[in-house]
Amino acid sequence: MRDDLDRSISILQGERPVPQAGAGYPQDSADAGSSLSEADRTEAVLHSARGQRDEVLTALARLDSGTYGRCVDCGHEIPEGRLEARPDAARCVNCQAKYARRRR
Ligand SMILES: [Zn+2]
Repeated sequence: MRDDLDRSISILQGERPVPQAGAGYPQDSADAGSSLSEADRTEAVLHSARGQRDEVLTALARLDSGTYGRCVDCGHEIPEGRLEARPDAARCVNCQAKYARRRR
């Protein structure tokens, strides 16, 4: 997974924008009125790829320290089904929902 992200990041950095399903857009900071240029779009995809990569790296760090698979907030084990869907999940479903609400 990390290798995949590394690959897409290096492709994006050296190449034209690659359409990515589900990449999402970062919160727009400036120039909300202007349309996104190609470079801005590449930057947006890069940003989200880097963010994902950070999550994967933290997941790997937790794997090393033996805390992988446990919710970073409540310490309960994250259900296996959730880890299969989101191998980099740091929180159980409940805490992730609370976390997502807090970020808004
Ligand atoms: Zn939790």
